[in-house]
Amino acid sequence: MTKKTRVLVTGAGGFIGHYLASFLRHEGYWVRGVDLKHPEFAPTEAHDFRILDLRRWEDCFRVTKGVEEIYALAADMGGMGFISCNHAQILHNNSLINIHTLEAARQNGVKRYLYTSSACIYPEYRQTDVDCVPLKEEDAYPAEPQDAYGWEKLVTERLCLHYREDYGLETRIVRFHNIFGPLGTWDGGREKAPAALCRKAAIAKLTGSRERGDGEQTRSFCYIDDCVAGLFKLMRSDYREPLNLGQDRMVSINQLANIIGGIAGVKLLRKHVPGPQGVRGRNSDNTRLRQVLGWEPQISLEEGLARTYSWIEKQVAATLVQPTAAQTMEAVAGAD
Ligand code: NAD
Repeated sequence: MTKKTRVLVTGAGGFIGHYLASFLRHEGYWVRGVDLKHPEFAPTEAHDFRILDLRRWEDCFRVTKGVEEIYALAADMGGMGFISCNHAQILHNNSLINIHTLEAARQNGVKRYLYTSSACIYPEYRQTDVDCVPLKEEDAYPAEPQDAYGWEKLVTERLCLHYREDYGLETRIVRFHNIFGPLGTWDGGREKAPAALCRKAAIAKLTGSRERGDGEQTRSFCYIDDCVAGLFKLMRSDYREPLNLGQDRMVSINQLANIIGGIAGVKLLRKHVPGPQGVRGRNSDNTRLRQVLGWEPQISLEEGLARTYSWIEKQVAATLVQPTAAQTMEAVAGAD
């Protein structure tokens, strides 16, 4: 029997990392996961799961020992509301996580390292119009990401390229474009547009409150199963430069809301809510993705949203039937 390749998934308690740990286990790998927390909505399938803080050098050194490959997903992140209001925290935490994890991987003799970057690294000046030109990988420079989150991702991309050139660590770099699906954060302030709109549609369906934000800005959205399949293909490929991974069908947030409303069977009412919206328009150019991997995301936006909505509706329904802690306290206080 051949020995299983040992892989580490950082951020395995998060949305994409949780799916990736399961995917790799099903592919026959021995999987270690690490995070500050366990996955929120389903138990991990990793063989070994460690609760550690990757901002700390000792934790990074310990957890990267004895693995051949690393998928680096850990990050302090969230939707636009979070990213645009926590620049110092994000730049500080993510810099420490990535500098330490990459160096620990080198010192522990790791062979391959895949870093998860973001479409947020692309310059703001290419994303000023809702009808923008899809972003090619080489559009990253001259650099002008909108937020500290994007600057940190760009610097870590450079670090990965230099670790390969200077130390021979085989690095891979993926730039995700809005990944969504069930088991992702759906409330609390760190959720992204598809989950937030599914939640609002479910609340509208279950309670009758129909408000949502205003949204002409455009994006593309990629379903989680395609994301994980693409990550694995990239790790196994010999392509060493940054690569987009996303859908290349651009929709406005209003169109997204209409699709979700159609799935839920409700019409959400537009209401202008002041707040950060991110760049005006963004889409992925998948030319290189198709060339390099001979593949592109397969699951349609409608199909992905139907699966996601169905899961979020169940979460919302559960919160509506269960009394909140405050209600329970009130009931207990009043039950004399
Ligand atoms: P997520 O927030 O669900 O997962 C990230 C995980 O990292 C979280 O579970 C968090 O607890 C963990 N983490 C944070 N700080 C840590 C620390 N100090 N030590 C250990 N673990 C720590 O996010 P996700 O959507 O699964 O994203 C995974 C990766 O992909 C991230 O690097 C993110 O920046 C990148 N990305 C995601 C998207 C997307 O649309 N989801 C888009 C672009 C890039």
